[in-house]
Amino acid sequence: MRDGMTRIDTFLNELEAEIALGRLESLGVTAVLEKDNCGGLRPHLDLQRGVRLLVLNTDLEKARGILDETNSIDATAAWSCPNCGENIESGFDTCWQCGHKIS
Ligand SMILES: [Zn+2]
Repeated sequence: MRDGMTRIDTFLNELEAEIALGRLESLGVTAVLEKDNCGGLRPHLDLQRGVRLLVLNTDLEKARGILDETNSIDATAAWSCPNCGENIESGFDTCWQCGHKIS
């Protein structure tokens, strides 16, 4: 653990971690990845220990907000349309029955 930084999330692969890191940095959050995979020589260690995303303590709240927002977009759960009652699969934000859109 680095001074002044807090682990905000753990990823099972480096790619997902890099995406989250890039998103945070693009929005002005200071973040780093902490890995145990020996510079990529032992990628299986990522699966055992995870790739940890650390953010500066002072950016923690902001970073949480950014990641929460991202997760809610990526992982739209299955839902029922409040307008017509149709069951919609996860990953869609518009009812195919009546065109109602969830926000
Ligand atoms: Zn509908």
